[in-house]
Amino acid sequence: MSGKCCNFDAFGHRLYVTALEIAWVIAQTDSQPDTPAPHSPCPFQIDKLCSIHAVRPLGCRIFFCQQGTAQWQHDLYEDFLTKLRRLHDQHALPYQYLEWRHGLRQAMAHR
Ligand code: SF4
Repeated sequence: MSGKCCNFDAFGHRLYVTALEIAWVIAQTDSQPDTPAPHSPCPFQIDKLCSIHAVRPLGCRIFFCQQGTAQWQHDLYEDFLTKLRRLHDQHALPYQYLEWRHGLRQAMAHR
């Protein structure tokens, strides 16, 4: 809820997503953000809030910055990542797993 984890470099972590999640977010959002710089916070964070809360990636839904929660987060993440991988297969989409800002930059370059 603090929004600190959306400022990846300051928080000290990275968000990884599938190509399908990037395509989903871009298709579902009306306003496209500026192309994110490599070390910038998430371009969808506005006034410390997530502007795409309803369609945010899996990692954003599961990440919880409290000690002692790593194991269940890991298990839940792996479970849903397997489902996302299957969705790529079902729709004959090439599977990619990328750093969020890097993936957004790639997608925005091809708009
Ligand atoms: S999509 Fe939303 S929750 Fe995820 S990093 Fe960006 S602002 Fe934060």
